[in-house]
Amino acid sequence: MKFDLKKRYCFYFNELSMIPRGSGDEKKACEWVAEFAKQNNLYCHQDSVGNTVIRKPGSKGHENEPYLMIQAHLDMITEKDPGIVHDFKKDPLDLYEEDGYLKARGTTLGADDGVGVAYMMAILEDVNLVHSPLECVFTVQEETGLVGAMKMKPRDILSRRCISLDGGGETTAMSCAAGGIKGEIRKKLIWKPADRRMQAYTIEVSGLLGGHSGVVIGEGRGNAIRILARVLNDMKQNGLKIQLAELNGGRGDNMIPSDAEALILCTEKESSAVKKTVSRQLKQIRDEFADSDSGIQIRIRKAALPKEVLDNDSYASMLAMLLLLPNGVEAVSIPLEGLPVTSNNLGRIVLPQDGNMILYFRIRSLLQSAMDDVLSRVCTAAEAFDAKVSITTQYPGWNYQKVSVLRDHFQKLVKEIYHHDIEIEGTHGGNETGIWSSLHPETDIICIGSIEENIHTTKEKLYLEAFDREYKLLCRLIEMCAE
Ligand SMILES: [Zn+2]
Repeated sequence: MKFDLKKRYCFYFNELSMIPRGSGDEKKACEWVAEFAKQNNLYCHQDSVGNTVIRKPGSKGHENEPYLMIQAHLDMITEKDPGIVHDFKKDPLDLYEEDGYLKARGTTLGADDGVGVAYMMAILEDVNLVHSPLECVFTVQEETGLVGAMKMKPRDILSRRCISLDGGGETTAMSCAAGGIKGEIRKKLIWKPADRRMQAYTIEVSGLLGGHSGVVIGEGRGNAIRILARVLNDMKQNGLKIQLAELNGGRGDNMIPSDAEALILCTEKESSAVKKTVSRQLKQIRDEFADSDSGIQIRIRKAALPKEVLDNDSYASMLAMLLLLPNGVEAVSIPLEGLPVTSNNLGRIVLPQDGNMILYFRIRSLLQSAMDDVLSRVCTAAEAFDAKVSITTQYPGWNYQKVSVLRDHFQKLVKEIYHHDIEIEGTHGGNETGIWSSLHPETDIICIGSIEENIHTTKEKLYLEAFDREYKLLCRLIEMCAE
């Protein structure tokens, strides 16, 4: 039995697993954490959404040192297997051990980020640990877009050094995370009746890999919306008088679109040139994306004639805008070889949407200034074609810090215990560390300890030996931070 409840972090993980804590439903978990602080005579502050800060004075002789923040999120992803009866609003998780792993029967395990929560509680109640004043931050609604942490104010955090426990790995230090701007571009369209003598065709781009833009945008994958716009533009450049009735593709701002479809009209005379353009483009695009999207298809098939098509000017300006908007990776990191620093993803287009066009995009960058620059170019391109941009959400990034005392401590410890160097990685996705960095830009941050596997799925599991090792490593790191 490795999941031994005599170990306090196992005890707290087990307790936490009995409390419902899907994102937005953390109330009971927040009460449990506040009660823990009360029992242990610790300062505790909870804000209106439930973010909880617990502070503990430094151990003897370390009372006057600066605060050290440790941080994890209380909420979890709530997934269950088909056929499993489980109410995430009230039922405890059904934990069990198998082959050295801790798992939850039929559901997510919540080790993301329950591991971090359990570690913080075990550390807070440990009276033997040597440490600086500690500031443990338990956030809520992380999994729905860093919603809880975004509500925190600079005055809520006293620390200027932070160990985040929601990324990296056992010996991997996550050292930067991208911020994001999620937005929409709306363009009013003018329509006219379709000429009944024309022929209608559907052009469909499909078979691309797509994927999450915060994870795979650096892998050179094609964007189906952009490819479709290119095919239509090729027709335009060759003098074909195509008309457009529909253009749809993609699933959301943060997904690279893997398919897109257009409904076009052309004269009977032009139809063979239209088909030739499709096959010429298919050949070129297959060559260009042979290494990233080997399954690309562009198909054309006869369709029913629609009632209306876009007026020529509306179509021309919509197409030009699609071609000119920034899309894909803009810059890659030099210190973190190849990691995308800045990108934009044109993720989804709907046309018509109440007679107009709507295009969803997501800008990401480690640097706020770079995000602002991409946004200003998105706005410039949109304005040039009479479209309007609105921002629905934005969150800050955490840029790579060349000098980090925390990272140096971590490197020294890993070398001593594991006899190898740490790995340094970054993410192009969002992380709460971006918010800590924006609240106090001088904060030294390291993000470590994410040891659970298959997160966000019902196959989520926690390797128990690593659970033990990582706790010891974290305690040593905290001791090292006490001067
Ligand atoms: Zn997490």
